Amino acid sequence: MTRGLVVAAYRRHYDVELDGGAVVACMQKGRSLRIAVGDRVQVARAREGDVITGVEPRANLVFRSDAFKEKLLAANVTQVAAVVAPDVGLDEELINRWMVAAEAAQCRFVVLANKADLPSFAALRTRLAPYEALGYAVVPLSARRDPAAVRPWLAGQHTVLVGQSGMGKSTLINALVPGAAARTTVVSEALKAGRHTTTSSTLYALPDLGGDTWIVDSPGMKVFGLAHADVDGLAHAFVEMRPYLGHCRFRDCRHDAEPDCAVTAAVAAGRIAPHRLALLHALTREAKAPGSRS
Ligand code: GDP
Ligand code: ZN
Repeated sequence: MTRGLVVAAYRRHYDVELDGGAVVACMQKGRSLRIAVGDRVQVARAREGDVITGVEPRANLVFRSDAFKEKLLAANVTQVAAVVAPDVGLDEELINRWMVAAEAAQCRFVVLANKADLPSFAALRTRLAPYEALGYAVVPLSARRDPAAVRPWLAGQHTVLVGQSGMGKSTLINALVPGAAARTTVVSEALKAGRHTTTSSTLYALPDLGGDTWIVDSPGMKVFGLAHADVDGLAHAFVEMRPYLGHCRFRDCRHDAEPDCAVTAAVAAGRIAPHRLALLHALTREAKAPGSRS
């Protein structure tokens, strides 16, 4: 039995970097294992093909889900970093969903405000001010000109990079990881599936930022469902609501139409943005939707 780190995932095929350093393509044993990049796994080596036989206990798992399926982004993550840019239509609900996913996974959340070289960047900064007011860092950078500003934010972290397509995620990865664009995964070669762009997630070590630093590139996404969220814990993922939780008249208050709700009172007083409470309600409905995991 050998152990290793999952560094690329493509459907039920994985690249595993074995503790000895070699990277091998693996299938998974059976169909029941949930395996994500960032997972530490046990591998049985065999001439017919290497097989992942088990997953070591993980600190957390960042994934999205709807009522029917889940897409694993990465395991053992310490930080979710969202790449945004001024020249692509920003979906703020998506940013808020990533933020909630990060809080639910007990990770840090940081916004990487890319394309600082564009004139329209100032307007983006203004739009992002409410995120800073919530306590989240907004890091301005230009992935194309100079990604140095982001390095201190990545050092020592296990980061999963998320973003709508066009924000500059690939440009940033290529700036941080020389040769990343040309890198082919063992799995994609074995499957003749082309370059790593076809994988669902790829992990890159960043040894110059500290021994155990890595970053995961996940595919660009338009939706981020949180059907798996724990309904009772959801409100805690909204940082600005935390001081009010436990102060409603009803212990199981959904902060909707209940009387003496501390959260809706805080919204009325302008201390919580109405769109954040609306998102909490939407996520609660999704999490309770028939067929969803709980
Ligand atoms: P992805 O879909 O998020 O992977 O985005 P890409 O990395 O493919 O970038 C989308 C477009 O934005 C490309 O044309 C990039 O050259 C451009 N881009 C990326 N970073 C920057 C930047 O810092 N400044 C400017 N002006 N353009 C950038
Ligand atoms: Zn309430």
